Amino acid sequence: MLTKLSKYCIFARNHLTYLMILPIVAYGDPVLKKVGKDITKDYPKLDELIANMYETMYGAFGLGLAAPQIGLPIRLFLVDAEPFAEDESFTKEEQEAFKGFKKTFINPRILEEKGDEWAFSEGCLSIPDVREDVFRKPEITIEYFDESFEKHTETYDGLIARVIQHEYDHIEGVLFTDKLSSLKKRLIKGKLANISKGKIGIDYKMRFPNQKKKR
Ligand SMILES: [Zn+2]
Repeated sequence: MLTKLSKYCIFARNHLTYLMILPIVAYGDPVLKKVGKDITKDYPKLDELIANMYETMYGAFGLGLAAPQIGLPIRLFLVDAEPFAEDESFTKEEQEAFKGFKKTFINPRILEEKGDEWAFSEGCLSIPDVREDVFRKPEITIEYFDESFEKHTETYDGLIARVIQHEYDHIEGVLFTDKLSSLKKRLIKGKLANISKGKIGIDYKMRFPNQKKKR
């Protein structure tokens, strides 16, 4: 559990570790196109990495964050929907599903996706200021390991399933913009090019692949 203290530090393996906000990798970085590799329990400083990823996600007001978004092509992502449980732009039912939903997914595999595709306007911390309708199936069954490397198989639907599908796509090297029609892709091409160059106003730390070096 993250406590108030955790805003400043965590005690990991008896060491005092300061939480760090990591730069979020912007659209255009090749790491976002890589299929993530499975990790083991011995992955270097895994507790610290996960804690820093949560801190980074909260700092950017995200619902989810995947490891490639902080530059690591590994199968790890996290979701914390709780901060959105009171957000009235979501339905009462969605707010209810968000309550207490905080999970770390390690080496996940989506086993099944079911139902008729539905559209929802998605955004992404790596693609700021772009929101587009994305079609996805409403129900998923996913197998994953938690931060203690306990294995789980769970079924989700609705918005929770969608958040998981979006993050899962990241570890498969897929962005929501890849799922748009070719017309939509053409329409946002310029905007995406600007994001990769850092020509965008954002209030969280990012790393841009095509930013010209300052002289
Ligand atoms: Zn995303």
